[in-house]
Amino acid sequence: MLDDFRAAGRREDILRAAVRRRLLDPEDALLACFLDLDAVAATVGALHDAFASVAAPVLHTFAAKANSLVPVLAELRRLGMGCEAASPGELAQALAAGFAPERIVLDSPAKTRAELAHALDLGIAVNADNFQELDRIDALLAARATPSASRIGVRVNPQVGGGSIAAMSTATATSKFGVALRDEGNEARLLRAYLDRPWLTWLHTHVGSQGVPLERIAQGVAAAVAFADRVNAEAGHRRITGIDIGGGLPVNFADDAVTPTFDDYAAALRAHAPRLFDGGYALVTEFGRSVVAKSGFVAAHVEYTKSAGGRPIAVCHAGAQVATRTVFVPGTWPLRVTAHDPRGVAKGGEKVVQDVAGPCCFAGDLVAEGRPLPRLDPGDIVALLDTGAYAFSTPFHYNSLPEPAVHGVRGDAAGGLRFETLRPATTVEEILARAGHRPGMADGV
Ligand SMILES: *Cc1c(COP(=O)(O)O)cnc(C)c1O
Repeated sequence: MLDDFRAAGRREDILRAAVRRRLLDPEDALLACFLDLDAVAATVGALHDAFASVAAPVLHTFAAKANSLVPVLAELRRLGMGCEAASPGELAQALAAGFAPERIVLDSPAKTRAELAHALDLGIAVNADNFQELDRIDALLAARATPSASRIGVRVNPQVGGGSIAAMSTATATSKFGVALRDEGNEARLLRAYLDRPWLTWLHTHVGSQGVPLERIAQGVAAAVAFADRVNAEAGHRRITGIDIGGGLPVNFADDAVTPTFDDYAAALRAHAPRLFDGGYALVTEFGRSVVAKSGFVAAHVEYTKSAGGRPIAVCHAGAQVATRTVFVPGTWPLRVTAHDPRGVAKGGEKVVQDVAGPCCFAGDLVAEGRPLPRLDPGDIVALLDTGAYAFSTPFHYNSLPEPAVHGVRGDAAGGLRFETLRPATTVEEILARAGHRPGMADGV
């Protein structure tokens, strides 16, 4: 992993090279996003290493919702990952990125009959969310002429409790996800469901995401493993052959340190659920944010600077359209912002408490409020760090702002940087089409 100093230096190198290549330009490219593909590769390597001692097959899938750009998914496929999809769109993206069906997991909580039938046809792994979905799968399997190659599991909610962010806590008593394992009668009912269905051979849980402590995630996984052990004991054979432990490793947004690490998580799992490592179960994981968040950043030009009520304000081109969660829930999703001159060089000098505002027409469109930063001037560049997941890849169409270009970056043998387009910026024509425009409308037709 890169330490703080090297990470900051690498970002500055990327910014300066991007300015030279006019990927960032005060006239034509006011806003651009970057994903450091070398850093992503290092992160995926750390993930593989952390689980290398599992004595059974392990498939690390990437939760597509964290960054669903097809070239990013294809890159993760080349790095040896599978893909977790949670909607028909994400499933299409996973297939378009070239993942083999047996390396895709479908997890949506609201799968239609048609989606289930499609997944069963292709041999995509399916995790049923509830007993009604299991009934649907029963009917679909019964109607098939040939067996499906899909691995089929049920998602359980171990109800071990949430974390500091309610919206990210999937294992509370009343979470909408999975079969609530501790609710009266549910464990016995689910046990029966497994014993009655020889094709039901997987178990799934995803205990939480940002804000949930590692220990709690590990306890939730341990509860799932204990249930699988119980099913297998009652069945008298290995009915459950694999466990999908979900994702949810939190990301540190405070500085460049990667903490917790995949190794930390594996150690917590080893402490709470040692059976996961002994080869009794094949393993699937579904990490999202921890794979890409820290490798991405948004860079935006400052258009104007002003002062209001004694507060300096820099109006830049990055706001709610690329940092939606930060703008709407700033206390929960604070982002680091760095200040650079028009060439991309980090600005020094005395820090001034200021607001960094976005381009959207609502007062709350601030990516940083009251933040001490070197004084920003028009033409400067601000970078929003750790935005490789759930940010620029999940844009908000407010004010009909375009989706900015996303560039992948790699170091080359000569010590330079190579850029590749992961997503072009939205054009005005695309914005019009998205808004229902048809040719000829302006003529009163
Ligand atoms: C969102 C989600 C993930 C990924 O969560 P991260 O916090 O990004 O790791 C994995 N599995 C399921 C079922 C999810 O809903």
